[in-house]
Amino acid sequence: MSLSFDTTYKDLDSNLYSRVTPEDINNPEILLLNEDLCDGLGLNKEDLNSQILSGQKLLEEPIAQAYAGHQFGSYTVLGDGRAMILGEHVHDGNRYDIQLKGSGRTPYSGRGDGNATVSSMLREYIYSYAMQNLGIKTSRSLAVIETDGSVQRRRTEPGAILVRVMRSHIRYGTFQYVASQASEELEEFTDYVIDRHYPHLNNKDKKYTDFFDEVMRSSINMVVDWMRVGFIHGVMNTDNMSIDGETFDYGPCTFMNYYDEDAVFSSVDKRGRYSFGNQKPILKWNLGRFAESLKQLFQESSHAFDELEAKLDNFEEIFDAKYYSMMRKKLGIKSDGEEAIVDAFLDWLRESRADYTNTFIELETPGSFDDPVYSSEDFKHIRNELSGIGLDRKMMKKTNPRYIPRNYLIEEALNEYLEKENLSKFKDLLNVLKNPYESKDANSQFQQPPSEKFDSEYTTYCNT
Ligand code: AMP
Ligand code: MG
Repeated sequence: MSLSFDTTYKDLDSNLYSRVTPEDINNPEILLLNEDLCDGLGLNKEDLNSQILSGQKLLEEPIAQAYAGHQFGSYTVLGDGRAMILGEHVHDGNRYDIQLKGSGRTPYSGRGDGNATVSSMLREYIYSYAMQNLGIKTSRSLAVIETDGSVQRRRTEPGAILVRVMRSHIRYGTFQYVASQASEELEEFTDYVIDRHYPHLNNKDKKYTDFFDEVMRSSINMVVDWMRVGFIHGVMNTDNMSIDGETFDYGPCTFMNYYDEDAVFSSVDKRGRYSFGNQKPILKWNLGRFAESLKQLFQESSHAFDELEAKLDNFEEIFDAKYYSMMRKKLGIKSDGEEAIVDAFLDWLRESRADYTNTFIELETPGSFDDPVYSSEDFKHIRNELSGIGLDRKMMKKTNPRYIPRNYLIEEALNEYLEKENLSKFKDLLNVLKNPYESKDANSQFQQPPSEKFDSEYTTYCNT
């Protein structure tokens, strides 16, 4: 099958999107094509040429979506400034947005150029690939296409387009936009989103309250999964929070090496708003903004909105239950409860600042790493305590990755491409991240954390 579109978003009010045309490109070149994803979408890779994947040959008129968002706490009206949805592709009863990122300016670009650098699109490709293989709901990357343009950021680089695939690009911020700019559309829009993502709620008495509750639960699952693998999203603005619990917008994101709840690598996040350990309270704050955007749906009865707010009051309890259940699995504890030992372990992690990923492998198989932190009396003590109730190896192997996309390895691979146009390091890394739970001793260099100096100086950037 080749791409074919049935774009239901265009049936919505035209204030919610703009019709757009991708920028002209002379020699688009496919750098990467995700063959597994082609299969998942029922696509023949032979039918996907660079003209189609770069938006030069169009099957129908693309759109850019309008949305708003709280960016670092401040409300702003936004929209796809450098993204265009080519159309909605349906396969096996599932609907997917096929979106180009970096394909030129749109009515929402402001002063932005609408473009993206090749290194940032390769970076998004590898992060989304790793997240998918780590078993975390995520946007997918179908392809990276290099363009003939050059894009100026901290350094000048070739431009690129990422072909991104998601269940939809609807976010908390889309609701914020509709509530503030097109409020008469809110009910129809919410019904559309329920139909598309939560159709089982359609006949429920309290479908809007239940909708909020389900969005909250899918977002909690997503963030708890981030905490499981040490992922720091980096820009949890409400416009980057998917309505379906899909991780997306891999900008200044990273995987943590040395355990530190204050870890943040983004150049713009000076106060640590989106640090590793703040992802839970920020999610709750974002859900509060999402709840506000739904308020007009409850005009007839303020009592009903109280019920929605009561759902948000359950946030802590639901999050903590999921978090502890996830941590128990990481520690191989089969019974319920046991929060005290989990807390004691977390205290040890905070204190020791050991490598997050490798610590669980070392707990499971002592002697895996030659690191003095694991010869300390404190570590032996915590391992002894755990061995009485946990350390079930089968459970740990399924929950704890052997490999994560370490920031320094990604930078090395990207530099090799930028300096030598050589993708071999990048492809080696993709190969390791294809099965991140599977041990490959020959590749143990991929398990090494960077020097603490590298980590403390490492910085990521927005809009790259
Ligand atoms: P982000 O931080 O990537 O979530 O982007 C925030 C907003 O800035 C979104 O509305 C983007 O579409 C827009 N944006 C980011 N980079 C660019 C760019 N190079 N050109 C135009 N718009 C951009
Ligand atoms: Mg964004």
